[in-house]
Amino acid sequence: MLQTPEDVEKYIQFSSCIKCGLCNSACPTMAMDTSFIGPQALAQAYRYIADNRDKGKKNRLRVIDESHGIWRCHASGSCSEICPKGVDPAMGIQMLRSYLLGIRD
Ligand code: SF4
Repeated sequence: MLQTPEDVEKYIQFSSCIKCGLCNSACPTMAMDTSFIGPQALAQAYRYIADNRDKGKKNRLRVIDESHGIWRCHASGSCSEICPKGVDPAMGIQMLRSYLLGIRD
């Protein structure tokens, strides 16, 4: 399935994630709520949702839109500051919220 450079640009930085968990460790919400889904998983949810080859968008959005899900994030930005791979989980979380709020398709 062909993708344009613009299609790839939407998710490529999130493909650099090495699942080190540093973003989860730096997250103040995770420190208070151990059931919070966390920035690592949310960044990966965005990586696939933003990929136009992925067909699991509805399911992924349903999973993150729960009581310990995406809305628990307080947007401190610690996850993005600490990431050694230049991934920006905080931005991914904001993009996911825009899908859930119907601002983005
Ligand atoms: S800190 Fe960066 S590389 Fe590590 S798990 Fe989080 S997003 Fe992935």
